[in-house]
Amino acid sequence: LKLLEVDSVEEVQKYGLLNFVLPEFHLLFQKLHHEVFLGKTATLEFVLQSKHGKQHWVDTHAAPLYDQNGQVKAMVAVTRDITERINLLQELEAQAHKDFLTGLSNRRHFFALAEQELSRTQRYNNSLSILMMDIDFFKSINDAHGHNAGDLVLQKLACICLATLREIDVIGRMGGEEFAILLPETTGSRAMEVAERMRQALENATVILEHNNLALKFTVSIGVTTMTSPEVTIDSMLQDADAALYQAKNSGRNKVVNYPF
Ligand code: GH3
Ligand code: MG
Ligand code: MG
Repeated sequence: LKLLEVDSVEEVQKYGLLNFVLPEFHLLFQKLHHEVFLGKTATLEFVLQSKHGKQHWVDTHAAPLYDQNGQVKAMVAVTRDITERINLLQELEAQAHKDFLTGLSNRRHFFALAEQELSRTQRYNNSLSILMMDIDFFKSINDAHGHNAGDLVLQKLACICLATLREIDVIGRMGGEEFAILLPETTGSRAMEVAERMRQALENATVILEHNNLALKFTVSIGVTTMTSPEVTIDSMLQDADAALYQAKNSGRNKVVNYPF
């Protein structure tokens, strides 16, 4: 009764138990009922919604109760509040997708999101572009100012990229100081603009080191590629973007290069 925020069982019956079950679980809840009345035991995890709209994840174990003639006459169920466990699981799941330092998607999660986006692109015949971005001379930032300063640069970069990109873009930290960015519904020329805007935003950023008030500057090189045929894979696109990145590095850094050249 406390979970449902009602005063009595009568109130539950009057309102109808199903009305306390979140609509997306109605079918499953009815299936559970059905199975128990066929004489089976059944379990279900679902969301209860109280009279005032408060939601709780619960776990129900239900079994039939028989009358003297062996007919199912009722069902007995034990329902536990598992909200805390589900929240913890969801939190762990979110953490497993993230890079600890920057909060961006990690490599594995980037690939998962990118695969989803690629199949959507292929289904709807949209365009799709990928950028590979790598900080220039990052090793010398670490060497000159320490690893912590390098970490601050990585965090600043993540922050600026997120602010520059759209909600539907996907950015992942692929390793050390290398980032991949997926731009759905984005043509080659548009992707070049986005990359150039990002390069400039990063070039104009400063990271202030608190202990000596030093203002650090950094730049990035970016390789850009766009889906050319429906047969491409995320791997092949990343390879192409990487080739463009390599070209950007070799031709002076702090620039954007498109593949094919
Ligand atoms: P380039 O312009 O050719 O990309 O040169 P670079 O110095 O950026 O590239 P290099 O691959 O030589 O060095 C990358 C450095 O990134 C080396 C490594 O110690 C550093 N690094 C990798 N991950 C982290 C990190 O999480 N934090 C910090 N502070 N440094 C990192
Ligand atoms: Mg680098
Ligand atoms: Mg690198």
